Amino acid sequence: MKKYSLNQNPFGKGIREACGIVGIFSKDSSIQVSQLTYDALLSLQHRGQESAGIYAYADSMHRINGYKNMGLVTHVFSRKILQGIFGHVSVGHVRYSTTATSSLDNAQPFLYDYESGESKFALAFNGTLTNFLSLRRQLKKQGHEFTTSTDTEVIAHVILEQLKEQGDDYPEALRNCLDLLDGSYSLAIMNRRNEIYAIRDPLGFKPYTIGQLNDPEIFIAASESVAIDALEGIIIRDIRPGEILRIYEDGLTSEYVRTKPRKAFCMFEYVYFSRPDSIIGKKSVYNVRVELGRALARHNNVKADAVVAVPDSGRAAAIGFAEESGIPFREGLIRNRYVHRTFIMPSQTRREDSVRKKMNPIKSVVMDKDIVLIDDSIVRGTTLRRIVRLLKSYGARKIHVRISCPPIVSGCFMGIDFPTRKELIAGRMKSNVNEICKFIQADSLVYQTIDDLVKCCGKAKNELCLACLNREYPIKTPVDHEKFEQEFGIQRE
Ligand code: SF4
Repeated sequence: MKKYSLNQNPFGKGIREACGIVGIFSKDSSIQVSQLTYDALLSLQHRGQESAGIYAYADSMHRINGYKNMGLVTHVFSRKILQGIFGHVSVGHVRYSTTATSSLDNAQPFLYDYESGESKFALAFNGTLTNFLSLRRQLKKQGHEFTTSTDTEVIAHVILEQLKEQGDDYPEALRNCLDLLDGSYSLAIMNRRNEIYAIRDPLGFKPYTIGQLNDPEIFIAASESVAIDALEGIIIRDIRPGEILRIYEDGLTSEYVRTKPRKAFCMFEYVYFSRPDSIIGKKSVYNVRVELGRALARHNNVKADAVVAVPDSGRAAAIGFAEESGIPFREGLIRNRYVHRTFIMPSQTRREDSVRKKMNPIKSVVMDKDIVLIDDSIVRGTTLRRIVRLLKSYGARKIHVRISCPPIVSGCFMGIDFPTRKELIAGRMKSNVNEICKFIQADSLVYQTIDDLVKCCGKAKNELCLACLNREYPIKTPVDHEKFEQEFGIQRE
């Protein structure tokens, strides 16, 4: 077992996760759901490329079995591996990490009591616990031993402790867990009682949706609705903040636990992270992004020859901007789809190199033209600077940058892997737009306003998390940001 001093960062750099989870339950126990789980995970691959795993439960064998490994879904699972995963109930996971400490130990689903071969439950988790340290300390005092550096394992031990206290009464144990866990979490828990529990934290940080296939009747809980679409299912609804949804042979039962008037859905899911074809909170993510572009265009004060998107995440906003401003949309940058997203590249050198490998301008679109360049957000500013330089090297006359997200000034402790405040350009430059514009070498720069962002998301301000924009963290735990950043080890290499 690894030993950690509490003064050290016990997580390495591996705690930051923004994963994809899925839980599938077939009422017909003769159906094998491993292939469906694989298909659902493939559609959630954008949420995590580091590792993938599927565990299934077969009632006939009364056993949880499965497989997980490092890599993309298509690399981890061969046909033979999938055929060897038996069961009509499953949980699956894709994991995201930017760090060198990623390892199979941290891959999910996490199995409790794996070594003995009698797994009690399998857990798939998307989010970040903000009271991870105190819970871990407390559980260690109670005799729990930890073999990984993840908050997933802490959640598993919290559940286990509650199961012990409540005599294996899952609903009561899970209700109590919602009181104990702070932070963002969507959970899919599969046990050996032929049940899945799909749970969303009371503030509802992460998207989580329930859907259904008819004939045979199969329920699917997934991080995004696209996973239900991929299985040609029907979207029932979002799993609600503070909801414990039990999926079992008679169907679904639901209860709402510790619900709060304040919600905190992560605005960044709409702006960047979720797939544009997902539906979240009854809103099309694509439509939200188009509206963000339109809102930016309403503040436009420049003439230009073309609106160009930073592909792919800036595209929908660029279309909205073009429609509203009357400036034509043009494909000025072409993306090589076989290079991973720059956001997941672990070092700055690799990120900068990857921009050139990943994007190529179309000279006839940009040469001797004034361009409005639309991107979803600016994190460090270095990638955007590289793109501006690239377009200018292809003859663009002027580059007016418009950003569909307001300035990101503070870190995220709820599961999106931003750098520390010192690395965030808007944090470092105190949101001085002229300074940032100079840094990225653009001719002008305009950010979205927080009010317009909120309007475009179609929610009230107190239903969204905007903490990385306004430093108002909706969670109980982080008070001392410096200490929190140190403890959570979010500095990158
Ligand atoms: S701090 Fe920002 S990225 Fe993190 S959950 Fe809140 S809105 Fe999302």
